[in-house]
Amino acid sequence: MTIASLRILVAGAGITGQALAFWLTRGGHQVTVAERFPALRATGAQVDLRGQGIEAVKRMGLLEAVRSKLVDEAGVAFINSRGKARATIMANTSGRGRQTLTSEYEIMRGDLVHILNDVTKDDAEYVFGKGVDDFEQDPHRVVARFSDGSSGEFDLLIGADGQGSRIRRMLLPQGSDPYWRVGIHMAYWFVPRIASDSIIRDTYMVAGGRQIMRRSHNATETQVYFVMREESEEASAIHRAPVERQQEFWAGRFRDSGWQTERFIEGMKTSPFFYSQEIVQVRTDTWSKGRVVLAGDAAHCASPYSGMGISAGLVGAHVLAGEINRHPGDLPTALANYDRVLRPFVNEIQGQVNPRLLRLGMPMTQRAIDVFQATTALACFLHVPDLAARLSKEDRGGNWQLPENPAPTSAA
Ligand SMILES: Cc1cc2nc3c(=O)[nH]c(=O)nc-3n(C[C@H](O)[C@H](O)[C@H](O)COP(=O)(O)OP(=O)(O)OC[C@H]3O[C@@H](n4cnc5c(N)ncnc54)[C@H](O)[C@@H]3O)c2cc1C
Repeated sequence: MTIASLRILVAGAGITGQALAFWLTRGGHQVTVAERFPALRATGAQVDLRGQGIEAVKRMGLLEAVRSKLVDEAGVAFINSRGKARATIMANTSGRGRQTLTSEYEIMRGDLVHILNDVTKDDAEYVFGKGVDDFEQDPHRVVARFSDGSSGEFDLLIGADGQGSRIRRMLLPQGSDPYWRVGIHMAYWFVPRIASDSIIRDTYMVAGGRQIMRRSHNATETQVYFVMREESEEASAIHRAPVERQQEFWAGRFRDSGWQTERFIEGMKTSPFFYSQEIVQVRTDTWSKGRVVLAGDAAHCASPYSGMGISAGLVGAHVLAGEINRHPGDLPTALANYDRVLRPFVNEIQGQVNPRLLRLGMPMTQRAIDVFQATTALACFLHVPDLAARLSKEDRGGNWQLPENPAPTSAA
């Protein structure tokens, strides 16, 4: 069967943008991926694949490539200020039920970015250092304007440009706020690994709604996460400040925290990367308008607490590209189907993030921390997390099934 070959511009070479390039080029389309950064952003910390996200990787034929890069994380320990584990929840490696806090598929984001790039770079045109600044559309085409002053004409523009999407800002009515905030902020970076850094993730709770996590992904590096509850304008604005100011902010909020805080703050200054963000979800009823459509975090960021950010990007790309490949000559139907098919999955994973539960896990007082840890220790002693995971029928995306995509085809 031959189909109409569309000229498709994807804004953003993240996980979603590259997964779109994978499926759309296999549908016979001419795909350009424009990334505003000068090179592939193969940075980031450890991410997990769960449920339908694992299935999406399988359908791409990349499960073995992903397996070869998995990070060995045995479980999560809740520790006291001397680093002693009060409770430990091990990963569910039984192959049955739901995954625990640790997924069976933990991978560094950069490794996944490279895996996707390796299988798309010869078929799609990647353009780096060129952001999509603006667009105009009529019923027949969309004209994108790029950050270098150039412009290009396409049949479809896909905004896979992340949580702060510029394409989304232009698509939604002026003044609309798609962010659903949970009042939590997070920063993460790498420090040199030391002998006592094990393959169990340490979680250290600090009074004042703060948390420090440590996890090690290779022989030389350890990841550090500072997380805190705060609902202030200063905290919400800090993520857009220069990195030095962000680091001062985080050091100031955690300096008195004990355990290995000083080591982590010292290591911040020389870390190869530093990422600071407010935990938000993107919730909008509008995913497309005419010949412009949103995908991944730009459309439906579920937040790191969903454990499904990466999976949702892969799943969303699978569904969107599948519908475009199925209806290349009828974009309104393709984009309406994308919304109809994917929306229940997104509602499911977004709905699983419960701000009250999150706050419960980040207590304000030492007494509440002690109660939390004693309760968790008792539950672990009774194997409650392990049994709950193994006996659960569904993983985080519920029983929603990844649809079949049309077989690869050649362009007309
Ligand atoms: C550098 C980086 C590190 C990350 N690290 C982690 C992590 O450690 N843990 C975690 O859970 N999640 C992390 N994330 C987020 C995670 O990758 C996403 O939640 C998930 O993969 C969905 O990805 P996405 O492709 O939809 O969006 P993103 O991963 O945000 O990718 C969007 C891409 O679009 C590009 N872009 C933005 N605006 C434009 C524009 N106007 N024109 C062209 N390109 C544009 C960005 O530079 C980026 O490469 C990180 C994201 C990035 C960009």
